[in-house]
Amino acid sequence: MIELRSFAKGQWTAAAGARREIRGPVDGAVVATLGSAAPDAEGMIRWAVEAGGPALRKMGIHDRARMLKSLAQYLDARKEELYALNPLTGATRRDGWIDIDGGIMTLFAYASRGRREMPDGDIHLDGGVERLSRGGTFLGRHVAVPLEGVAVHINAFNFPVWGMLEKLGPALLAGMPAIVKPATQTAYLAEAAFRMIVESGLLPEGAVQFIAGGVGDLLDRLGPQDVVSFTGSAETAARLRQTPRLLGGGTRFIAEQDSLNATILGPDAGPGTPEFDLFVKEVVTEMTTKAGQKCTAIRRIMVPRALEAEVIEAIGGRLSQVTIGAPAAEGVRMGALASHDQRRDVLDRVAAIGAEAEPVFGDPDRIELVDADPTRGAFLPPMLFRAADPDGARAVHEVEAFGPVATVMGYRDLDHAAALARRGGGSLVASVITHDPAVARTMVRAMGAWHGRLYFNDRESMAEATGHGSPLPHLVHGGPGRAGGGEEMGGLRGVLHYMQRVAVQGSPRILTAVGGEWVPGADEIEGPTHPFQRTFNEIEIGETVRTPSREVTLADIEHFAHFTGDTFYAHMDEDAAAANPFFPGRVAHGYLLLSFAAGLFVQPDPGPVLANTGLNALSFQKPVSPGDRLWVRLTAKRKTRRTDTYGEIAWNATLFNQNDEQVAEYELLTMVAYER
Ligand code: NAP
Repeated sequence: MIELRSFAKGQWTAAAGARREIRGPVDGAVVATLGSAAPDAEGMIRWAVEAGGPALRKMGIHDRARMLKSLAQYLDARKEELYALNPLTGATRRDGWIDIDGGIMTLFAYASRGRREMPDGDIHLDGGVERLSRGGTFLGRHVAVPLEGVAVHINAFNFPVWGMLEKLGPALLAGMPAIVKPATQTAYLAEAAFRMIVESGLLPEGAVQFIAGGVGDLLDRLGPQDVVSFTGSAETAARLRQTPRLLGGGTRFIAEQDSLNATILGPDAGPGTPEFDLFVKEVVTEMTTKAGQKCTAIRRIMVPRALEAEVIEAIGGRLSQVTIGAPAAEGVRMGALASHDQRRDVLDRVAAIGAEAEPVFGDPDRIELVDADPTRGAFLPPMLFRAADPDGARAVHEVEAFGPVATVMGYRDLDHAAALARRGGGSLVASVITHDPAVARTMVRAMGAWHGRLYFNDRESMAEATGHGSPLPHLVHGGPGRAGGGEEMGGLRGVLHYMQRVAVQGSPRILTAVGGEWVPGADEIEGPTHPFQRTFNEIEIGETVRTPSREVTLADIEHFAHFTGDTFYAHMDEDAAAANPFFPGRVAHGYLLLSFAAGLFVQPDPGPVLANTGLNALSFQKPVSPGDRLWVRLTAKRKTRRTDTYGEIAWNATLFNQNDEQVAEYELLTMVAYER
């Protein structure tokens, strides 16, 4: 038996007070116990704010990203210990994969995004520079800095590991310490993963704390620099939102709530098409994975009216092959619900749905189990309903039975399908199985505003599609209205929940110093030698070369045209070029200018510059005519460490003509060795 502890102020402590037992859902035996006394909320907040926050902020963004990567590797190496506990929650190994491997993969994803998409410093740049004055001496840009409070993560019972890691990744990357409060029913699995995080020794002191059991008066003590990220039912969210300190104190509150997600069979996807089989498969997967205890699971199945009977038969056929039982037993596809309370709750809600929809598959009183006793375990079979009058029905659109339960309903046309989907009041996800792009476009317009994610799948994508129910670190997870109005993950979007976006105004010199990225108009530094002869460590931001100029001749243009095969009329035909509103006559190829620019700024000798790896944000701003003279200003704009031996230097390359008018600009990327 596990005795659950909290990790507060750097110490593991078991709560005092009356003891509470957590019973496993497979055989009803006690799995864990915990005390009922409230944690020292004030002390935990202070520890996070005074120890964790400063230590994380001192690290810099890329150091934090590297820390996340090491943590993900550490957890990955020890994950079998988590898989050993996983069946106690009622989940099969396949269910556990989403939770455990899914959580670790999310950490890896944040580690890599942090290093690819955020600067190697302590201030994140959010978007480009805004020109606020004609002369360019007064500019603005958005930066983001970590909030100085604590992130409180209140998580649902269904994904104890993923639910914790998908929030810790963005918060720690942002530089904010967190207090994790998992749902009590499966807190022993979350605790085991959390214990590993502590044992890894990779995180600075105060970066993370853990509460087993209730939070006491924690939420009443939060302030304007704190964030609450809640995942759970709409009812609990509504209650927590009313906490006076949260309402009046400016604490950010992110909610991921329940959701009556729909799937829609496209009108083109009838029996005999690959899409029809795909639809049936996705429905069955969503109903049975995690015994339907997934916030993104399909609850409402919308099909063309004429196909209702065939769809029900096909889904029923597949559901009848789903083996239910002890999650660790051989061949079991669906395990138990998380608890007896949860089973009772699902049955209550099934009764509400059953009052307006007929059961067409699954009877909770007749269930065959492998290696499990139906009187002791919290098992339910998949239960499918059919709503004959989906417009008149209410419960099927509003009551979330958080288990293997879904309702089929017929639609007349796409407008009707979208209207039914919207009856969910705002959902995390809807899927449309269609091979017709016009259907997809219609549905995005008809129901996009009511969903956080729209998932289209068909014969082309089905082999690689990630599944209706899988939230991914790259994409937003959350939804409007009933789904809570929150957004998690979505790449860096999720990180910014834990940062303050600040609009900064000032001169180019000030903005360069603030952002650590050279802004045109700021000081140009002249290095002792050509920058291509200097190492990553030697080059300073702002170091600039201004090249001599060279003439661009008509012979050059013709040579380039024939050499490359680019004989576009704007370069080759004087009359046709002049008739074009952009050009005075024949002009140089943009790519010729880039090549000449390289020829002007390159220092050819072997040196620390290893490779040119790309070019960003190229714009051709003014035509260059034969006889014009071209020169380049090349300035070290940004430095990012990449490996142990070299880093990336981004250069601002600006091309000018003989009148010092800007003709082109881009960002050039090079890899440069740290040492010679
Ligand atoms: P829940 O009962 O609402 O509980 C969610 C969390 O809130 C738990 O950690 C719970 O702790 C905590 N909590 C309850 N009362 C609290 C209070 N007064 N102060 C602070 N924390 C409090 O939800 P659940 O039963 O765990 O999860 C199932 C629900 O979550 C379903 O409705 C499902 O749709 C939803 N869900 C949504 C998402 C999503 O991403 N949108 C993901 C998963 C689940 P205790 O366990 O200690 O009570």
